[in-house]
Amino acid sequence: MRDDSSGKGQPNLWNTALEQFEVAADHLDISRNVRATLRMAERELIVNFPVRMDDGDVRMFTGYRVQHNITRGPAKGGVRYTDDLTLDDVRALAMWMTWKCAVVDIPFGGAKGGVVVDPHKLSAHELERLTRRYATEVSILIGPNSDIPAPDINTDAQIMAWIMDTYSMHQGYSVPAVVTGKPLAIGGSEGRNEAPAESVMMVLRRAAEDAHLSLKGAAVALQGFGHVGGITAEYLHAEGARVVAVSDTSGGVYHRDGLDIAALARHKRETGKVRGFSGAQKELSGAEALEVECDVLIPAACENQLTSENAGRLQARLIVEAANGPTTPAADHILHERGVTVVPDILANAGGVAVSYFEWVQDLQSFFWDEQEIELKLDRVMDLAYSGVQRMARQHEVDQRMAAQMVAIKRIADSTDVRGIYP
Ligand code: NAD
Repeated sequence: MRDDSSGKGQPNLWNTALEQFEVAADHLDISRNVRATLRMAERELIVNFPVRMDDGDVRMFTGYRVQHNITRGPAKGGVRYTDDLTLDDVRALAMWMTWKCAVVDIPFGGAKGGVVVDPHKLSAHELERLTRRYATEVSILIGPNSDIPAPDINTDAQIMAWIMDTYSMHQGYSVPAVVTGKPLAIGGSEGRNEAPAESVMMVLRRAAEDAHLSLKGAAVALQGFGHVGGITAEYLHAEGARVVAVSDTSGGVYHRDGLDIAALARHKRETGKVRGFSGAQKELSGAEALEVECDVLIPAACENQLTSENAGRLQARLIVEAANGPTTPAADHILHERGVTVVPDILANAGGVAVSYFEWVQDLQSFFWDEQEIELKLDRVMDLAYSGVQRMARQHEVDQRMAAQMVAIKRIADSTDVRGIYP
C-alpha cells in the first residue's frame, strides 16, 4: 500500500478520509442510502474576497467553509489560515469533525473552514480585516444554530473574537454562541484553551495503562509546539514523563533525560522556534525527531506526518494523535502490522470540541460553569468515549481508528435512519 498524491507532494486528505470511511462502513451494516449520504459533504462554500493591505493595495484571498453533515446538530469545526489549504483538505477535515463529534457523543455535525494565507506575513490590522471579511463572506452559513467555528492552525481566541463581533454587528446584538474558543471576557469557557491537550492526556493515561506502560519516566517525542503541542508538553512534564524530543517547522531538539519544557517554551516565545535551545543535548531534523527512541509519540502539528516512508522506522509503541490526520492509511497499515497502538485524532483531541460544546451551551443559557465543573464533565465524556471505542475494537477485532469511526458512523447512521430522507 502506498500513499496517494495531493499535488502537494503529500497524500490527498480527502482520499484518505474517504478510504477510511469506506473501510469502516464495510464493517458496519449500514444502508446504501446512508453510505451514499455520508461520503459527500452536504454544503461547500468557496469565497474569493478583497482585503485592503496597509500599503493601500487590495489583495484577493480565497476562503472555504464546508459542512460535512448536520444530522445530529449544528455543524462544528475550526477555521485555519494556511497558505497551502485546499478544498479537499477542508472537506476531509469537515468529515473528521462529523466523526469526532459523534464519537464523543455530542449533538453537533462536522464542518471546517479556512483561508489560503500565511498569516505571519500579515500585519495585525491586515489580519483583522481579512478575518472580518471572511466572517462576512461565510455568514450565509455560520450562526449559533447552524454552524459554529472555532480556532485551528494559525487562528486563536482573538480571531474568534473578531468573527463573533463581525457576526454580532450584522445581527444588531451580541451573539456569543456563534463561535467557540473565544476570550473569557466575551463568553468563552474555562478550560477551552487546554481542552485538546487535556483529552490527549486523558486517553494517553488510559492507553498507557492498557499497554502496561508507566507514564512516569516514559520517553515521549512530540511534534508541534504550538497551541495543542505546547500545553501537552507541559502536562507530560507535570506527569513525570521525559519529553525527549520536540520539533516544529524549524526542526527538532533532543535531550535524553527530558527537555526542560518551561525553558523551551520561553525560548520558543523569544525566538519563534525550538531550534537553538541551549538546554538541548543535540538538534535534529524534523524527520529525525519523529524517529527517536521513545515509548510514546505524539504528533501535534499537522496532517500527513506519519507516512509509508517513515512508519517502519518509528520507535514508539504507542502513538496518540493530537493533530488531525497526521497518519496516512498506508502508515496506519504498517503500524498495525508492527503492533504499534495508534489512538486516533477523532478520539484523542476531541476534548477541544467537547469543551466547545460546553462553551456553546453556557453561551446559549448565559450561565457559566467553573473550571472544576468543566474538567469533571470533560473527564466523563472522554472516559465514556474511550471505553466505547475499546469495546468496538474488541468486538470487531479492528484497530482503534477503525473502531472510533465505526462508533461515530453507527450513531450518525441511526440518526439518519430515524429522521428519514426529506422529502
Ligand atoms: P498551532 O498553529 O498553534 O501549532 C502548530 C505547531 O506545529 C507549531 O509549533 C508549528 O511550528 C508546528 N508545525 C506545523 N507544521 C509542521 C511540520 N510540518 N513539522 C513540524 N512541525 C510543524 O496549531 P494547533 O492549534 O496547536 O493545532 C495543531 C494540530 O492540532 C492541528 O492538526 C489541529 O487541527 C489540531 N487541533 C487543534 C485544536 C485546537 O483547538 N487548536 C483542537 C483539536 C485539534
